[in-house]
Parts: sequence; C-alpha cells; structure tokens
Amino acid sequence: MIGAEPRTHWLPDMVRRDRSGFVLTGADLLGDGRPPATWPLTRLPMFLESSLPGVFAVGDVRHGSVKRVASAVGEGSIAISQVHDYLRGG
Ligand SMILES: Cc1cc2nc3c(=O)[nH]c(=O)nc-3n(C[C@H](O)[C@H](O)[C@H](O)COP(=O)(O)OP(=O)(O)OC[C@H]3O[C@@H](n4cnc5c(N)ncnc54)[C@H](O)[C@@H]3O)c2cc1C
Repeated sequence: MIGAEPRTHWLPDMVRRDRSGFVLTGADLLGDGRPPATWPLTRLPMFLESSLPGVFAVGDVRHGSVKRVASAVGEGSIAISQVHDYLRGG
C-alpha cells in the first residue's frame, strides 16, 4: 500500500526500530519492565518518546500506532505536551 513503508533508515541506531522500520516508543522499549541498556536516564521513556531521550515519534512511523489520520493528529498533540515535560527536565 502506498505510504505504508516507514522511511527511517536515516535515523541513528540510538533510535530503536522494529524489524519493519517503525520507531519503538514508550512501553514498547521495555524488556522485563526495564528500558534498553543504552537508555541514560533514571525515568522510563514517555509514551511517545523513542530510545533516544527527547526524540519523539507519532503517527504512522511509530510502532503500534493505529495508522489513521485522527490518531496521528492526536498523538502529535500529546507529543507536544511530552516535549514540554522533557524540556522542564521530566
Ligand atoms: C492509500 C491510503 C489511504 C488511507 N485512507 C485513510 C482513511 O480513509 N482514513 C484515515 O484516517 N487514514 C487513512 N490512511 C492513513 C493516513 O493517511 C495516515 O494514518 C496518516 O496520513 C498518518 O499521518 P502521519 O503524519 O503520521 O504520516 P504522513 O501523512 O505519511 O506524513 C509524513 C510526512 O513526512 C514526510 N517525510 C518523510 N520522511 C521525511 C524526511 N526525512 N524529512 C522530511 N519529511 C519527511 C512525508 O513526505 C510526509 O509528508 C490512508 C493511507 C493510505 C496510504
């Protein structure tokens, strides 16, 4: 299907992706409740945060997203809030 292939090859390895190239975020990064070994912070990744702190993924490119316009827009608005949390040191 046109548009169904994520173009994420240019991202650094620090931004983890699934086997199809979709960006892993939040709980999808956890193994046994723990973040990846490369995760440098004491807190866990936020819902839309990738394995690189401060880098967020929303919409179709995100692993596990619903792949619909309304959900992509909604995730975008949530991401802004999470960016603010990140900038506040959260
Ligand atoms: C044929 C088809 C029919 C669909 N029908 C429906 C429907 O009826 N209802 C519905 O809700 N959803 C539908 N969808 C799904 C919907 O289009 C997507 O879920 C939605 O567009 C996702 O939005 P997005 O912003 O995550 O990604 P996109 O809309 O794909 O936007 C990503 C943008 O990033 C740009 N981009 C990519 N790489 C880079 C880069 N390196 N640098 C800068 N820009 C870049 C792309 O050019 C693109 O403009 C359909 C999808 C397809 C393919």
